[in-house]
Amino acid sequence: MIQRIESLGQTSSWQKMLASSFTRIPDLLDYLQLSAADIDVSEEAAKQFKCLVPLSFAQRMQKGKPFDPLLRQMLPIGDELQRVEGFIQDPVGDLKANPIPGLLHKYHGRVLLLTNSGCAGNCRYCFRRHFPYDENSLSQAKTQQAIHYIQEDESINEVIFSGGEPLLNSDERLLAWIKQLAEIKHITRIRFHSRLPIFLPERITSSFIATITSSRLTPIMVVHSNHPMEINTSVHHALCKMHDAGVLMLNQSVLLKDINDDAKVLADLSERLFKAKTLPYYLHSLDPVQGAAHFHINETQLHTLYKELCGLLPGFLVPKLVKEVAGEKSKTGLNPNFQL
Ligand SMILES: *Cc1c(COP(=O)(O)O)cnc(C)c1O
Ligand code: SF4
Repeated sequence: MIQRIESLGQTSSWQKMLASSFTRIPDLLDYLQLSAADIDVSEEAAKQFKCLVPLSFAQRMQKGKPFDPLLRQMLPIGDELQRVEGFIQDPVGDLKANPIPGLLHKYHGRVLLLTNSGCAGNCRYCFRRHFPYDENSLSQAKTQQAIHYIQEDESINEVIFSGGEPLLNSDERLLAWIKQLAEIKHITRIRFHSRLPIFLPERITSSFIATITSSRLTPIMVVHSNHPMEINTSVHHALCKMHDAGVLMLNQSVLLKDINDDAKVLADLSERLFKAKTLPYYLHSLDPVQGAAHFHINETQLHTLYKELCGLLPGFLVPKLVKEVAGEKSKTGLNPNFQL
């Protein structure tokens, strides 16, 4: 009972923090002491994909710097309106891998659940910016359909909670999922793909950690961070806390022009993650999604950068360089150092 009261109190606190997110470009610019004249902001881009930035994340942006690497990930700008050949609405083939609503089954052994349609912040490069979430997020009724699909296929041993943002679900809802999955014998692992530990580390409450470590299923947390300045003290503690509770901690990043396309920045990110007991997992080359072409890095630059990164770090701190190719059986490796 005491634990329940505590959990309700904490829940309302991170939810309150979410409510104070920036949703209007002028408010964000004011807060950062910038004027629209400094940057090519675009209300039209924000109409296509809403401006949404958690206050906690904005607090890590540098005031008065229009090219701040955290700001650039989140600010709707005119470049998004360019139509560039090859940059399309569903670059990773999600719509084809959608056997039932809310569930993606692309790869052997694991399924991905779209447990929440929204995100706490809208990253401008997101490959799901055009995904029809409304038809696909899991309502309570569709949840049973997904559970049934997982029960029927014994080749599945891992369930990935994704979204949108899976950690926007309440602990109660997550617990209900986990309990049902733990009853399915062939499931051994649960994995969370989340940017919330970075956007809003306050989400990582004791109650949340108790929830994801409560069953026989091995919990894995893949956070999403692209730049070392995202990892402040609160994020550091949130990551350490999950690790210390027995959660395998991994990070994935997206390679973004003028944000983290610099071997030293990426090496610094790996080092900071390691200090926070989190290992680099994937470095994704950008999915060619419509509206994100200005973040693109060509293959030659990508290889040069990655070789340089390999020269700066021990192997276990180098993320795997991958891209997602629609229809393939796994992510596709791009590592120029190890052509197998
Ligand atoms: C990326 C992805 C996964 C996870 O792939 P891993 O290589 O296991 O990290 C699983 N399902 C879908 C649909 C994915 O896009
Ligand atoms: S948090 Fe992840 S899913 Fe959400 S907008 Fe950002 S990149 Fe996309």
